[in-house]
Order: sequence, then C-alpha cells, then structure tokens
Amino acid sequence: MTGGRTPGNGPSTPVRRIPRAAPGIRAEGDADLQSSGKEPAWRGRIAREGDLAPERGSRRESKAEGRETPPGEDPARLAEELLAWYRVERRDLPWRGDRDPWSIWVSEVMLQQTRVEAVRERHPAFLERFPDPGSLAAGTEAEVLKAWEGLGYYRRARLLREGARRVQEDFGGRIPRDPDALASIPGIGPYTKGAILAIAFDLPEPAIDGNVERVVSRLLAIRTDPRKAPARKRIREFCEDLLRHGAPGDLVQALMELGALRCKPGTPLCPGCPWNRPCLGRREGIAGDLPRRPPRPRPHEVRTALFLVPGEGGLLARRLPASAINAGQWTLPGPGMPKAESPPGSWIRKNFGIRLEDCPRLGTFRHAITNHRIEVEVRVVPRSTGARLPGHRFLDPGGKAVWTTASRKALKIFADRYDRESSR
Ligand code: SF4
Repeated sequence: MTGGRTPGNGPSTPVRRIPRAAPGIRAEGDADLQSSGKEPAWRGRIAREGDLAPERGSRRESKAEGRETPPGEDPARLAEELLAWYRVERRDLPWRGDRDPWSIWVSEVMLQQTRVEAVRERHPAFLERFPDPGSLAAGTEAEVLKAWEGLGYYRRARLLREGARRVQEDFGGRIPRDPDALASIPGIGPYTKGAILAIAFDLPEPAIDGNVERVVSRLLAIRTDPRKAPARKRIREFCEDLLRHGAPGDLVQALMELGALRCKPGTPLCPGCPWNRPCLGRREGIAGDLPRRPPRPRPHEVRTALFLVPGEGGLLARRLPASAINAGQWTLPGPGMPKAESPPGSWIRKNFGIRLEDCPRLGTFRHAITNHRIEVEVRVVPRSTGARLPGHRFLDPGGKAVWTTASRKALKIFADRYDRESSR
C-alpha cells in the first residue's frame, strides 16, 4: 500500500474512480472562499523556491534542454498531483465511497484518538447498531457506551450522542450543511465540521488535523508552531486555495492520506510523494524536523493497583461519577487513576485491614491516561475479609456492564489466569 510507486509508474493496483464535481459548477459556500485578489502568502513562498538550484536530472533542470518546467507554485497543479496519487494509493476504508454525513461524522470522531485499524473494524458495527443520528439519540447512554467499548476515550461517545440528540431536536434528524448550524452541534469542532462539509457535501472547507499540519508545514517549510498564528493562518490559506482546484471531498481526504501514508511523523517517505518536487522542507533538508511544536511535558509515572474482591457471584465494583474521566463506567476498586490517592499497600490496609502481601498478585499491566503513564498491579483480596466499600456493589464481570479500559485489562488477566488453572 505504501510502496514507492509514483502515479504514472505503472501501478499494480487498479485506479479507482473518484466522483468529481462537474466542471464549472461551483459548490455552495464557495463564495466565502473566493480570492480577495491578494496573492496568498504561501504561494509566494513556493514561487521564491523556484530560485533554488534545481536537482540534478530534475524536470526543472531539463528546461535548459527546452523541455517543460513543472509549475510547482500553481495550486491547480498541486491539486492535480495530489489527486492522481490519491487515486492510486488510497486505502479502502469502510467510510470511504459514500457521502453519508453521519457515517463521516462517526468515522472522524472515532479516528480522533484511535488507530485506523481499530476504527476500520468497529465503524461498520457501530453504524449497523446506530444507522442515523435518530437511532443514536434514542439509545440509552449505557447502550451507546457498550457499542463504543474498546475504542477508549468514552467522552467522545457521549458527545456524539449529545450531538445526535441536537440534530434530532433542532434539525429534524438531518445533519445540516450550513457551516454555522453544523458548528452549533455539541462535539463538532472546526476539524470535524470541515471534514463533514468537504467530504459529505463537497464544500471547500478545510479540515486541518495533525496530519495536514505536518504535510503543509513541510511543503512550505514552516519553521514555527503550526498551532499558532501566523503559521496556522498560512496553513489554512494554503488549504483553502488548494480546495478551489478539485473536488473538496477528495482533496481533503487526499491530504489526510498523504500525512498518514507518506508524510508520516518522524521521517517522511519522500520518494513516491506526489509533492516531492515542490516540497521546500525536503529541498532544504529539514522535513524530518517539522512541524516545530513545543516539547511535550514529561509524563507522570504512577503506580497503582486494581483489586479483585469476590463475593455474591461477582466482583466488587463501583460506577464512576459524572465528574470522572470515564463517567458512567464500572471500575474495580483500588487507589484510583490516573492519580492514586495513596500507595496500594496503604490503601488496602486502610480499606480492608490487611497487608498487600496477603493479596496474591495476578499480574501487572501498563496503561496511559492523558499525561500519566501508569503501572497497574492486579491483586486478589482473600474472600475471608468480607469487607465492603461504600458506593460499591458486587457485579457479574461477564454481564452487560461497561467497564473502564483498565478494569477490562485487569479482568482479562484474571480470566487468563483462571483458564490456565482450570486447564491443569
Ligand atoms: S516530499 Fe516528503 S516532506 Fe515533502 S510533503 Fe512529501 S513526504 Fe512530506
């Protein structure tokens, strides 16, 4: 998929057709983005780059021999090159190929903090259970969280449901194509708004995520933080200009795909990139150092524990309150995370009156929440203690309850251990 083929080099995969807007028909909303007559700043930058010495054997060098020079500063040419690459290299993803704004909305929310491979598996099942905003709005929170189980960051699922309810109540169940109306829906920020408008409605609205920031920062050799003005403005202007020169839905997805497949974080895969020729970052030898972002704060290292407390046909558990990160989900008892209220030994002594050594350790796992890197011990509290904790009750771990990701990891360790011992 990401091999070094370039468009026109005899691709082994068939070229897929991408629906395009009819020539001469301008998409609704285009007027907002029409040129003010002023040359966008990014264009002058690429044009000035034309003064750089050409690479040996490049098409520019060949001008001296009377042949064509590629107009790298021309956004129409950039759009054409990008789309030609996208037709050949794009991945088959379940949400591609249709223009259903609900499917696109769900995919973009899922993709915000989850790997494409995981979303590829879960997106069709989620849409089968909730085929439109109305069905999600009618679902209970527990049903929605259950359908989201395993994707993590459950706040996204709650916001999606809230957004679906707004669509149901204020827009008769139809996702609006008006940018302001779309932006008023809970959970739809500038990026998701851009993705829905461009991909579903083919409106020239940029969708700028980390991938796009990286690609454009490198292409234009932007040496400052892309989240801050004026870099942010330059990136947006570049995208707006680009989207005027092809089907916006395809161009937005092509940019994202370029960031995911070629212009990756760390070392970009420049050979085979459709923008290899005009890319200033590559020419200046700084592409791998871009984008320039402030260093991340060092993660906090935390040690904590989850305790398996058997009784009454289940395990002791607590439902997390609305103020918690994973509100509404069930957790096994323990000192807490990402911050632990006390070391595991102190916590078990205070709550069960026993020593940590009295609780056999089944295993440990690593977990991450925001800026915390957490090491979690999984231990079993002896049945004989009989202690209960306020706010907790015994719950069947195989039932319908939605557990936090950390508790599910602990329950898996427990189940694996149980399976191993029962097979002996
Ligand atoms: S040439 Fe390299 S750095 Fe430039 S856009 Fe392509 S992959 Fe990114």
